[in-house]
Amino acid sequence: MIDGIRQWVEIESPTGDVAAVNAMLDCVAAGADGLAVRAERMRGAPGFGDILALRSLGAGERPGILVLSHVDTVHPRGTLGAALPFRRDGDRLYGPGIYDMKGGAYLAFEAFRTVIRRRTARLPIVFLFTPDEEVGSPFSRLLIEQEARRSRYVLVTEPARDGGKVVTARKGVGRFEAAATGVPAHSGGRHHDGRSAIKEMAGQVLAVEAMTDYARGITTTVGLISGGTAANVVPQHCRISIDLRVRDEEAGQEMTAKILGLEPVDRDVRLVVSGGMNRPPYRKSAATDALFRHAAALARELGFELDEAPMAGGGSDGNFTAALGIPTLDGLGIDGDGAHTEWEHALVSSIVPRTLLMRRLFETLS
Ligand SMILES: [Zn+2]
Repeated sequence: MIDGIRQWVEIESPTGDVAAVNAMLDCVAAGADGLAVRAERMRGAPGFGDILALRSLGAGERPGILVLSHVDTVHPRGTLGAALPFRRDGDRLYGPGIYDMKGGAYLAFEAFRTVIRRRTARLPIVFLFTPDEEVGSPFSRLLIEQEARRSRYVLVTEPARDGGKVVTARKGVGRFEAAATGVPAHSGGRHHDGRSAIKEMAGQVLAVEAMTDYARGITTTVGLISGGTAANVVPQHCRISIDLRVRDEEAGQEMTAKILGLEPVDRDVRLVVSGGMNRPPYRKSAATDALFRHAAALARELGFELDEAPMAGGGSDGNFTAALGIPTLDGLGIDGDGAHTEWEHALVSSIVPRTLLMRRLFETLS
């Protein structure tokens, strides 16, 4: 299995690199060759790789299990050759995207192949490999939601949390852009004629950051800022990107209204704010809880404890399916740490237990 994971990790596939993401999907499709599944490939929208769906055969149209794995990573091409080559150090396997989420996608795929060969799955399985999760799934969201509506359960192979915990709730994510347009002027000769977009935005940044409310689980972050043209020009333009995380739909609406309603302090500066909620909150429903308990019982049979992580701050495609009311169990992927960093690694010791757990889920969910 380590060799298989290595093969996937060594096909670097950053989201925007269409050819690279598609090469990764070619490799997955080749792995399904000769398997009793129907493979469907949906061509990507401009700038995105394809979507690959593998459907178990002979199951009729009964609602079944939807498995969600993304094959894109955040690591630019070349990471493998420099900062993060594939290597093993004791229990740790290093490599770009190995934890988020090629390791988890691979072990779920391995479990899928086993139950297809042995014909031991009780429900039809649709395994979706998507190209754009790391940028919010703008292209694959529609298909993910379509497939989820036809499914009884959704299993997501995002990385396990500290010590192998699964995820049953995630915050909702909002993304916003704000652009200030002031009046440019020579900073020496005509300072009084200028209206600084940066000065205006500085106030807006503090206002946005002040919306963070830890007690309510609300965070606002200005993660990007740009503006100005030269040190001696009163700047005409300044832009920021805002990230919003909320626990529930109501907070999402409230904070969206607040952010979109930002007003310029200096009336001579124009402020345009756009954006909204990207991923709805993924709240643990009773059905998701039952799914988690089922998985925990299977893990116990396999000889390990399966715990759930506290509500995750990061979003995933599980947010879309949970928001539709489909029982969704996330964080079923490989254990490890360092997602999106140059010390990203997966734990070898988690491969077998989590592959078996996935297989038992396929074999017992009904
Ligand atoms: Zn991921």
